[in-house]
Amino acid sequence: MTDTIFGKIIRREIPATIVYEDEDILGFKDIAPQAPVHVLFVPKHEPIRTLDDARPEHAQLLGRLMLAAAEYARRQGLERDGYRVVMNCRDHAGQTVFHIHLHLLAGAPLGHFGV
Ligand code: 5GP
Repeated sequence: MTDTIFGKIIRREIPATIVYEDEDILGFKDIAPQAPVHVLFVPKHEPIRTLDDARPEHAQLLGRLMLAAAEYARRQGLERDGYRVVMNCRDHAGQTVFHIHLHLLAGAPLGHFGV
């Protein structure tokens, strides 16, 4: 199992506001939200460090991350106004936790992104 902060959340060693869980994916609120809704979706059993470390055998898991975010969004009624999912990869994207995760941002119009 991974030794990142997300591994500790998955193992319930440190607290987090968990809002989604299935067999493979955990979803919890970001500690420093960048939008009214900011949830992180992480694989529970495969601590892939970055998207660049993902391999063809991870394709199903990556798809499940996306579907978990969409399922959560539907449960919260967020699909009506829309939402954004983002995955940061390494330095220029600002990745800080090296256990792959998908950000779900919603709850207000989101600004465009870029440099
Ligand atoms: P990254 O920048 O790596 O794509 O995203 C990491 C995210 O994890 C950041 O948005 C940051 O606020 C969040 N984060 C970092 N440490 C913790 C923590 O201990 N608990 C929670 N819930 N979120 C965290």
